[in-house]
Amino acid sequence: MRQRFDVIIIGAGIAGCATALALRQQLPHLSVLLLERRTNTPQSFRIGETLPPQAMALLQQLGLLTQFRLRDDVVSLGNHSAWGSPQLSENLFLYSCYGHGWHIDRASFDSWMAQQAERAGATILHDATVTGAPAYDRQRWHLSIKQNDHAARGVETPVIVDASGMGAFFSRNRNINMVSHDKLIGIFRYYQTSDTSIGDKSHDSYTLVESCPYGWWYSAGLPHGRRVIALMTDSDLSRTENLLHETAWREALLSTHHTCRRFIHAEPLTSLQIKPAHSQKLERFCGQGWYAVGDAASTFDPLSSLGMYKALRHGLLASYAIRDDLLKKTGAREKYQHILNEEFRHYLYMHQQYYRIEQRFANAPFWQRRQHTAISSYPSRNDCDAVMDNGFP
Ligand SMILES: Cc1cc2nc3c(=O)[nH]c(=O)nc-3n(C[C@H](O)[C@H](O)[C@H](O)COP(=O)(O)OP(=O)(O)OC[C@H]3O[C@@H](n4cnc5c(N)ncnc54)[C@H](O)[C@@H]3O)c2cc1C
Repeated sequence: MRQRFDVIIIGAGIAGCATALALRQQLPHLSVLLLERRTNTPQSFRIGETLPPQAMALLQQLGLLTQFRLRDDVVSLGNHSAWGSPQLSENLFLYSCYGHGWHIDRASFDSWMAQQAERAGATILHDATVTGAPAYDRQRWHLSIKQNDHAARGVETPVIVDASGMGAFFSRNRNINMVSHDKLIGIFRYYQTSDTSIGDKSHDSYTLVESCPYGWWYSAGLPHGRRVIALMTDSDLSRTENLLHETAWREALLSTHHTCRRFIHAEPLTSLQIKPAHSQKLERFCGQGWYAVGDAASTFDPLSSLGMYKALRHGLLASYAIRDDLLKKTGAREKYQHILNEEFRHYLYMHQQYYRIEQRFANAPFWQRRQHTAISSYPSRNDCDAVMDNGFP
């Protein structure tokens, strides 16, 4: 017999876990299944580390703030950026009404979120994948799940949440169009530091952002003396500029004015890693019996440092919409669709404004591509049910 759950969430990243937590908080009787394709062994490294101050309000709403503060993450005081000028300028988080942010060990944070969701009563299946396309029949999704070496088994649910990250596994399976806005990728490496001069604690408490003709660099201190250094460029430019190779990447790093100093006294912990980081958005964020959250719904440029905040926020918003849907209240899906649309419009506007500040490389393809984007008017804040704080440096 097929096992039945009230809600099945595909992907136990931040967005999936936040959705599960918020659902169980509001409707404790709800059975929630999280399917995660990764194994349960914590990874050593995962990209995406700056948790901006405004995320604290969402962690509080999820009932996680007190436990979060017990973790040994690194305080993030703000950004130093050479953007539009070779000189560094400072943007302090401390002027935010939420205080400072955090540089987190992302792999440990993601598994901590999964533990919190489990503690709240959600069931998590690791090493689990959905085989074939889920079928919708008589207001139920029918899924076949394969876990480890076990035989595939059937489960059913009235509500699926796609929290599978940029790949948007479920939504793409439903042929929902994903609209991409650029070809940004991150090419990054982790380091161990022991220096006390340049990389002292206060220095590592800032994210350093530095633009260059073919994109921009960022670097940030992480817990346990680790550091990440990333080059953000377009996938085609990374090939023409040969930036995917260790030697060329290192030479490019050494040619920077500021970022290269974070490289001194730092021992590489990993080889170069590459991740897509382009801005994209689903044509529709929800439909009959399904919702998309986090990066599966829309992906923001890491320049914003808003990806994790957005994942937490979508989790909460989707939980309200699912609750209203289950209680047969009308308009829940329309509201969710509207809020996420406005959120993305606001994001595109801010994105355009920040990239336009950098005029020193106006003839370089990376910057030319970012001078002309579609949004030219500021979206009305009244239109946006909950306004996103601006996280750009
Ligand atoms: C280079 C780079 C730097 C970044 N820096 C920052 C930063 O400083 N601050 C910030 O806030 N954000 C940053 N981000 C963005 C941030 O990492 C993402 O926005 C965030 O991870 C989104 O969370 P999510 O839960 O939506 O998706 P994910 O973290 O991608 O989680 C999705 C989960 O779903 C699982 N999954 C996928 N497909 C399936 C399937 N078919 N079945 C079962 N499970 C599945 C995956 O294994 C994964 O665990 C950065 C991103 C990049 C690329």
